[in-house]
Amino acid sequence: MERYRVRPGTTVDLASVDPADRSGFDGDKHAAKELLRAYRKRLAELQRVFWADGSHALLVVLQAMDTGGKDGTIRKVLAGVNPQGVDVTGFKKPSEEELAHDYLWRVHRHAPARGRIGVFNRSHYEDVLVVRVLGLVPEERWRRRYDHINAFERMLSDEGTRIVKFYLHISKEEQKRRLEARLQDPTKLWKFNPSDLDSRARWDDYRIAYEEALARTSTDIAPWYVVPADRKWYRNLVVARTLIDHIEALDPRYPAATVDPERFVVP
Ligand code: ATP
Ligand code: MG
Repeated sequence: MERYRVRPGTTVDLASVDPADRSGFDGDKHAAKELLRAYRKRLAELQRVFWADGSHALLVVLQAMDTGGKDGTIRKVLAGVNPQGVDVTGFKKPSEEELAHDYLWRVHRHAPARGRIGVFNRSHYEDVLVVRVLGLVPEERWRRRYDHINAFERMLSDEGTRIVKFYLHISKEEQKRRLEARLQDPTKLWKFNPSDLDSRARWDDYRIAYEEALARTSTDIAPWYVVPADRKWYRNLVVARTLIDHIEALDPRYPAATVDPERFVVP
């Protein structure tokens, strides 16, 4: 999955990443489903020992354009994991109270505890994405945020949180298909938000904002992955495999025994 990691200090050109890429997997969609099943099983095992070990937290950040598949990724990739060990937080438009604070205030309190997996469905990155594109704060303010974000993530990492960030990369044509599907399917219509068309109209502005955010905040301790996401099954494989790799790298272990089982008999 290394091919999708944004190397620190490099520029990002999203046009050079094919959203329909599937080059990391030889098989067809059916084979991908089989493999995803195996990955889910592995993630479930890893989560159990990660929780028992309790020395690290895992923070997964998901960002994408509308219809990019954040919800579907969470549903499909984490389906096998014990729900008690996972905290999913969606970040919507900030409330009045949130806006009266610094932009990390609402984010930090949702950072996962040790032993837990925290998933951010949108995140503090909105504060250099939508905020930049819509000009919600002056440029000199959002420009300083890349440094704040790197410092914030460094602090989380120093204190035991492993951070993995995914940008789900869909094409403009695929977004059109998915928005049309929402309009045509009564069970999906509720998900259609007319304001998604405004964001779509600013596609290039978002691309530029994403490219700079990915380039400036992909670090060794909090890497970004640009995930080809036009094919949902491929996207799921890439995210699942990457998470497995990161948890395995932490090498979680069940705690050593504190009692001698030979000395106890359950009456
Ligand atoms: P879906 O893909 O299912 O529509 P969503 O994540 O887009 O889910 P919505 O409720 O449609 O959820 O949108 C949330 C909105 O909140 C997005 O338009 C996002 O840009 C906006 N938002 C999130 N954080 C901020 C922020 N810090 N400032 C301004 N807007 C924000
Ligand atoms: Mg939306």
